[in-house]
Order: sequence, then structure tokens, then C-alpha cells
Amino acid sequence: MKRKKLIAGNWKMNLEIAEATKLATSIKDARASFKCDVALIPSYVFIAEVKHLIYATGVHLGAQDCSIHENGAYTGEVSATQLKSAGVEYVIIGHSERRAHFGENHGILKQKMQIVLKHGLKPIFCCGEPLQVREEGKHKEYVQKQLEESLFDLSAKEFANLTIAYEPIWAIGTGLTATAEQAQEMHAFIRQLLVPKHPIALQTRIIYGGSCNPSNAKELLACADVDGALVGGASLKAKDFLAIIDAAG
Ligand code: PEP
Repeated sequence: MKRKKLIAGNWKMNLEIAEATKLATSIKDARASFKCDVALIPSYVFIAEVKHLIYATGVHLGAQDCSIHENGAYTGEVSATQLKSAGVEYVIIGHSERRAHFGENHGILKQKMQIVLKHGLKPIFCCGEPLQVREEGKHKEYVQKQLEESLFDLSAKEFANLTIAYEPIWAIGTGLTATAEQAQEMHAFIRQLLVPKHPIALQTRIIYGGSCNPSNAKELLACADVDGALVGGASLKAKDFLAIIDAAG
């Protein structure tokens, strides 16, 4: 079965409400031309507004993170059930910015994966190596460890709801992009690693993230194992994000 591509826009901690609604409106207004799945991933504060705008349009909604706790006295946190009740479908887990700035280690990520899956949300699990590791030629071992620690214990049913984002850290927000060959090599490696453990990984979307833009999207998205893109900076401009969606074919 052919994997349908997913183009997901991670807005990070950007935009204010008027800009967020304008951007979401521009994307949903173009939906008739979409041949792939498209997800918008705004800050928590804009989730309800964006959901309202894209309701029943076929545009998907994601969140950038999720608490490890079910509910209760955790000021500032947002739970999986709250996200679910707000109409969220996808949740980014283990983005390199959260690993780097908020100390999210594999123990925390494992709990996040569990709680997100328990409540019927779909994790977009991020993996990827820093520049030094790439330069040392150890990127495969590095990513393998990230996947083994957080994904190998999932059941087949849980695994079926998973999207993996390969995001080399040296390419995130830097303007440096992995070449199509580098991306394809890593995506094929990730799939080969997972299939013996979870045969359904043949159907798992492995999307690429790292300075994806209208100029490089077509080449990256043409790779056999690149099933879409997690887009940061270029998802903040409707024109650029729509061009990437278009490149997904
Ligand atoms: C990201 O943060 O997931 C990302 C891919 O960002 P950018 O596209 O800006 O590199």
C-alpha cells in the first residue's frame, strides 16, 4: 500500500492570534488542491481558534508537546486528554528543541509516548543527530539508539498510530538541509531497523524535517522513503508552506 504523504507545519513559539488565524485561513482555503495530508501545529493558545477555522475541512491539527501527567496540579502543563478534547490529532514528541532546552530524555519521552497513545492521539516522534555526530560518521548508531529507547516497546496497535520525523539537528532552522541522498539513506535505515520488530513499519510515515523549503522540497519528497515533511520556518508563510504541500504531489 502506498504511503500518503504528510506535510506538517510546526509553528513553534511564533505568531500572534491575528497572524495565526490568517495563516490557518490561507491554508484551509487552498485545501481543494491538496493531494497529501496537511497538519497545522500551532502553540497551545491557538489550538481552539485554529480548530474552529479548519473544522471539517480535512486539514489536520497537532500540538507541539504534551504533559506526562494525566491531570491535576501541574501549573503550565497541558494534558493528553485536554488536547484530545480540543480536537487535536497529532502530537510532536521529542523535538530536538525540547530535548535540548527542556531536558527531555528518553525516560520522559517514553512516558509522553505512552500517555499520548493511551488517549488515542498520534505521536510524531522526532529523532536526529547533532552535527558533531554526523561529522564523526556515527549518525546511524545515534538515531538507532533514540528509536530503540522510545519506540521498540510499543505494541503493534500503538505503532500503527506513529509517525516518525527524521530531523538532523544541524539542519533545523539553520538553512542547511540534508541532501536528498542523505535523507533517503537515513529514512531507509530507520525503516529497515523497525520492520523486523514491527512489520507495520512498512506503512509508517517517516517524514523529513530540517530547513525544508519550496526550493528543496520537491527533491526531498521524491525520495522513496521520505513520506512528507515537518516544516518549521517555512510553515509560517502561507505561500511557502503551500508550495511545499504542492511539491508533495
Ligand atoms: C522543525 O523545527 O521541526 C523544523 C524542521 O524547523 P525548520 O524547518 O525551521 O528547520
